[in-house]
Amino acid sequence: MIPRTDGLCQTPSWNEAIANAFTSPEELIDYLELDKSLLPAARAAASQFGLRVPRAYVDCMEKGNAQDPLLLQVLPLGAELELQPGFSVDPVGDLAATSATGVLHKYHGRALLITTGACAVNCRYCFRRHFPYQESSAYLDHWQSALDYLRSNSSINEVILSGGDPLMIADSRLAELFRALEAIPHLTRLRIHTRMPVIVPQRVTDDLLGELDRVRFRVTVVVHCNHARELTAAVCCVLQQLRESGVTLFNQSVLLKGINNDLKTQVELCESLFEAQVIPYYLHLLDSVQGAAHFDVSREEAQLLYQQLLQQLPGYLVPKLVYEQSGEISKTPLTL
Ligand SMILES: *Cc1c(COP(=O)(O)O)cnc(C)c1O
Ligand code: SF4
Repeated sequence: MIPRTDGLCQTPSWNEAIANAFTSPEELIDYLELDKSLLPAARAAASQFGLRVPRAYVDCMEKGNAQDPLLLQVLPLGAELELQPGFSVDPVGDLAATSATGVLHKYHGRALLITTGACAVNCRYCFRRHFPYQESSAYLDHWQSALDYLRSNSSINEVILSGGDPLMIADSRLAELFRALEAIPHLTRLRIHTRMPVIVPQRVTDDLLGELDRVRFRVTVVVHCNHARELTAAVCCVLQQLRESGVTLFNQSVLLKGINNDLKTQVELCESLFEAQVIPYYLHLLDSVQGAAHFDVSREEAQLLYQQLLQQLPGYLVPKLVYEQSGEISKTPLTL
């Protein structure tokens, strides 16, 4: 039995960490002692999709390094404003797959709830960076049409809370949602897609852990970590607490040019995840979302890297290399 580590993991108030996040390109560039010439483009790109990054994450970046792999995930760049052929605002057909307010039902047996549009961090490559959350979040009508949809579709046995980031929602509201979901007999699994344990680890509160432990579903949490340096001591600590609450932990990451598209970085990521009791689940090719073309890694390069990864790691540490194609019945594996 691993001793509980309450108190060690949690500094006060995740709300505060979010409220104190950097949102001004100028402040971020000053704080990291970066070249001021980055500022005009950062401001222009941020006016399209805002800068947002909590301070603890920024403190993992190297000062003065404009190529830092954590920084590149959040710093607005001029390249985002260049329109690229083949890159669109709804690259994975989310609008067409909306089955009820805030429900995306694309795949057999599982339905995804857009619980909120909010996130603790704005990732520049986010495939939902243009998604009309204001009209599409399931919370709009207090989950009623989402719950009705789930209730009337007995083929659905897994509900996936996504967003945005579902852990932006307060524990008391999540608990209400869990109770309503528990009342739907054919649901057996609850999955939470969240970047919060990695970006704001103190979000994993004792109340949340208690809820996840108590709920009648088998619970999986799929975190989103793209680089081993994101797995700080505080992050590993809350991941351990989640495991101790009976949660199965997976990771999904995005293959991003200049951030993690090399063998050493991928091997370190998979091995560090396992150290932190997380199984690498998906390595996604970038969705072709407008504004993110500069992160794109070609299929040929991805396949080559993946082949090397298969050589280096035991099978259980190699994530599935996939991409999302509108209208398909599952994520599509990229074959070698
Ligand atoms: C990615 C996704 C899922 C989850 O797919 P899994 O292969 O089960 O991880 C479910 N619903 C939607 C709409 C998705 O985009
Ligand atoms: S945390 Fe996820 S949903 Fe939020 S901006 Fe990043 S990639 Fe997009």
